[in-house]
Amino acid sequence: MFSMKQILWHMLVWSGLAALARRRARDQLTIVLYHGVDEKRDMGSYNYRGKFLTPERFEEHLRYYKRHYSVLPLDKAVALLVAGKNLPPYTLCITFDDGYANNYTYAFPLLRQYDLPATFFLTSDFVLRNVPLWVDRLEYSINMGTCCSAVHEKVREDDRERARLKRLPHDERMRELEALEERCGIRLDSFEGDASVYAPLTREQIGEMRASGMMMGAHTESHPILGGVDPKTAEREILGSKEKLAATCGTISSVFAYPNGQPGDQDETIAKIVKQSGFIAAVTTVPGFNAAETDPYMLNRMSLDQDDDHARLVVSLSGFRHQLHTVFNHYAKRD
Ligand SMILES: [Zn+2]
Repeated sequence: MFSMKQILWHMLVWSGLAALARRRARDQLTIVLYHGVDEKRDMGSYNYRGKFLTPERFEEHLRYYKRHYSVLPLDKAVALLVAGKNLPPYTLCITFDDGYANNYTYAFPLLRQYDLPATFFLTSDFVLRNVPLWVDRLEYSINMGTCCSAVHEKVREDDRERARLKRLPHDERMRELEALEERCGIRLDSFEGDASVYAPLTREQIGEMRASGMMMGAHTESHPILGGVDPKTAEREILGSKEKLAATCGTISSVFAYPNGQPGDQDETIAKIVKQSGFIAAVTTVPGFNAAETDPYMLNRMSLDQDDDHARLVVSLSGFRHQLHTVFNHYAKRD
């Protein structure tokens, strides 16, 4: 059964409007964002948000890029953009955030098969010290613990808690998360058994990916929302992750990736710290294209997930989906 939105995506593709919009943005830089690729697993509310795509869906995306885009390494494309030089038509860069082991297991072989470069932004505490990401601790406790039983209850609870915790300052968020883990009676503190799906990349995997031409980049030490921490902490998170990752991975990307990355999650002060830390640019998760006049420390990225079947992918990358969202939100606010 198609939803109204799916019908709309198909209509935009069939009518040629999506292709028209794509052509209008041909000289701008498109950066896509993934978190991971994993097989479909029957594990309650695990990955209910679809942030890990199935290998089949990810391969569909790569085939589309191969056919319709010039896929460049992010550093190369951003260097051209920042220098005010022309990009090849339909330039697209592939990025991954956080540093999950599934990036190596499922995404890396497909990227190699299609001969496409990607940049992997790593949270250094996660990959170098095996500290789980807070969003995974939340998902795991609610899914595996005793506070909810039916999957739809787990999903609702996760959505509610995620939104609530995101609004809190970092330290308070971590205290609240610990209280929730206490309530649920289970905590993600190792990557064994059911928790192995949340494991980070190992140093060996990172080394192999680097040797195959993939790039690693910095994404802070502990993944705080940078707008919610003091400038000293922000500097430690940004510069610290850069230095620690460089010591492990050799050269890392000259582009930084903000955690969460939504409007308001980073501001001018944070962008200044990123610049002072030696980065030439930074990527957000604000959807949109990038042109010479785009602030290099606020580059836009299109987040993609399992729901991006062919029609939605085409509409997302044409910029239409973002525009429609803006219009819907505008009218929703007026009601
Ligand atoms: Zn992240």
